[in-house]
Amino acid sequence: MIIAVKNSSDKVQVDNLIKWIKSKGLSVDISVGENTTVIGLVGDTSKIDIDLVRSMDIVEHVTRVQEPYKCANRKFHPEDSIIDVSGHKFGGNNFQIIAGPCSVETEKQIVDIAIACKKAGANLLRGGAFKPRTSPYSFQGLRETGIDLLLKAKQETGMPIVSEIMGVRHIDLFKDVDLVQIGARNMQNFELLKEVGKMNKPILLKRGLANTIEEWLMSAEYIMSEGNHNIILCERGIRTFEPLTRNTLDLSAIPLLKELTHLPIIVDPSHASGISRLVAPLSYASTTVGADGLMIEVHNDPPHALCDGAQAIRPEQFAVIVKNIDVMLPLVNKVRI
Ligand code: PEP
Ligand code: MN
Repeated sequence: MIIAVKNSSDKVQVDNLIKWIKSKGLSVDISVGENTTVIGLVGDTSKIDIDLVRSMDIVEHVTRVQEPYKCANRKFHPEDSIIDVSGHKFGGNNFQIIAGPCSVETEKQIVDIAIACKKAGANLLRGGAFKPRTSPYSFQGLRETGIDLLLKAKQETGMPIVSEIMGVRHIDLFKDVDLVQIGARNMQNFELLKEVGKMNKPILLKRGLANTIEEWLMSAEYIMSEGNHNIILCERGIRTFEPLTRNTLDLSAIPLLKELTHLPIIVDPSHASGISRLVAPLSYASTTVGADGLMIEVHNDPPHALCDGAQAIRPEQFAVIVKNIDVMLPLVNKVRI
């Protein structure tokens, strides 16, 4: 962190500021110029409240030179992290495709879709049991029963399952779920993040509706600081001024995240656009910019889906996407096994 001090400050004020910085366990590197004094902070600056420094009368401006996330930072972990989800590897040169309905509706529905997705080439099965709906009057998911039905589909197909957890008190219900999802709305539910940080399970951390990349990485940091380093990030579109799509897919986040973090990152093109016919092109675009995988909503009967029918694709459409992705993977130096 670098603090530029205002011209008008006197020596006593500057000394007091330096004393305060040193009291936080940091040392300083001072450069006195003709017009400005610049104080460089050396050491762990995570204990310094940047907004507090900014508000000080003698401070002209403050710049952070080190990111506030440590565990997730590629600087401290240059190699890609490879996250193993029940034998399926995410990260490095691996690519995985997760597919399934927005929500688990009935036993037949989830088992039929699971079989169809597997036949089309999906690696993992997704299905919401606890649904974060904007309206309390919308279908809320089958909850515990939904998890049981997903486990049935897992038994039938052998596919690992992915499902969203919404509350700390449901942790025990997720003991047989292979990849535990934190949805966009809970990306900054810090108590939940801390609890899943204590779970011995991989976590799929979706980006919040209107969260910056740094806020997202800080949420990963919450989970990692509790000891769980098995995190896969998922870009699912962010809210912008554009009303014609449900969200705007932030494709640039993927290559940028590859620089900032060693964690794998996949893309959910379904929630990113909210429109089924955009799912294929966004899947190809995501693969091109370096995503480590995709999570796609697939339904046998989209017009009658209990949730997110408009963005769901049918198994036949999904099969075409998988075929094309498999053609693309060698070009981006990835393999799907
Ligand atoms: C989901 O994946 O089912 C979901 C609700 O997604 P998001 O949290 O990205 O809205
Ligand atoms: Mn959905």
